[in-house]
Amino acid sequence: MSEIKLGIIGGGQLGSMLSEAARKLKIKTIIYCNDPDAPAKNFCDDFIFAEYDNKDKIYEFAKKTDIITYEFENIPYETLNELNKLKPVRPKPSVNRLIQHRLAEKDFINKLNIRTTRYVQVDTKEDLLPLNDFLPGILKTTTLGYDGKGQYPIKNMDEINSLNINFDNEYILEKLVKLKKEISVVITRFNNNKYEIYEPIENFHKDQILRHSKIPAEISEKLFEQSKEWAILIAEELKYIGTLCVEFFIDRNDNLYVNEIAPRVHNSGHLTINAYNISQFENHVRAVCSLDQIPLKKISNAEMINLIGNQIVPYRENPKVNNNQFLFDYLKKDIKEKRKMGHLTTLK
Ligand code: ADP
Ligand code: MG
Repeated sequence: MSEIKLGIIGGGQLGSMLSEAARKLKIKTIIYCNDPDAPAKNFCDDFIFAEYDNKDKIYEFAKKTDIITYEFENIPYETLNELNKLKPVRPKPSVNRLIQHRLAEKDFINKLNIRTTRYVQVDTKEDLLPLNDFLPGILKTTTLGYDGKGQYPIKNMDEINSLNINFDNEYILEKLVKLKKEISVVITRFNNNKYEIYEPIENFHKDQILRHSKIPAEISEKLFEQSKEWAILIAEELKYIGTLCVEFFIDRNDNLYVNEIAPRVHNSGHLTINAYNISQFENHVRAVCSLDQIPLKKISNAEMINLIGNQIVPYRENPKVNNNQFLFDYLKKDIKEKRKMGHLTTLK
């Protein structure tokens, strides 16, 4: 029996699903989170509640663990770096620092000769005014964004005054891609040229939030291969250990762009729990804990629907689903609009 104790920073649904996967592998999990009611509290073996810059608590956390990983990006670099001096942090802190900054992330991707949308740094209103060429576009905070938070879609410069943009933040302006589709590729890298990769997943967003995902993605063979190649190139270049997700745009001319990289397990990969022999969560735990790499096998086509806000209510009242369906309730106490409360996967 393994004696590994895995520390996970962040206590959301991704932390819960990582803990469940770890339990299956007889690995104990200790979650560190700044929310005393974090949903992952229901799934882990031990829980530390503290802010992400609390030095004493960080030290206490490190002492309890053998290996440390994280389930969200927005962790202070200083914290990951301090932890890494005490116990191995995987993926390594420098990867997280790069990816949590949208400008640094896009510069990195372009250096690999991988296409992204056109983008430019914006620090002041004066920076923004001459950038007509990038409109229609989306102004995004360079850090701390998720599920469309910190984003302002801009059609024309006349709108700018009414948007009440807070220029204390640093921004990136991205030209809007005329989207035909969005896909993502989830990959788990174990070591040099050793990885397990899932087939591309097709994603449907509304109001910048993922609503549902499915495999197979309805895309050409060429895009199927190119998206996987780019995901492998990114994972290798980062010398990544663990599960990573690359989000892509496909425009109306079938050009592929990388939208962003998530240095963690990803919402679009939830269907891997039921559609593959090994889920993105189990693979992440396997990779960061240096366990065996098992070849991936697809079991079924699948579709995953996010249950957002009140959409969880009928399932809480009657959780019975069909034999080919799997319901996940994240056990979040408060139902909030736009909050991911659970998901439903259907095997097809
Ligand atoms: P988050 O970090 O919140 O996931 P993203 O940059 O992935 O932010 O944006 C969320 C969603 O908004 C994307 O999945 C896409 O649907 C839409 N979006 C963002 N940027 C663009 C863009 N440049 N062109 C077209 N759609 C975009
Ligand atoms: Mg995104």
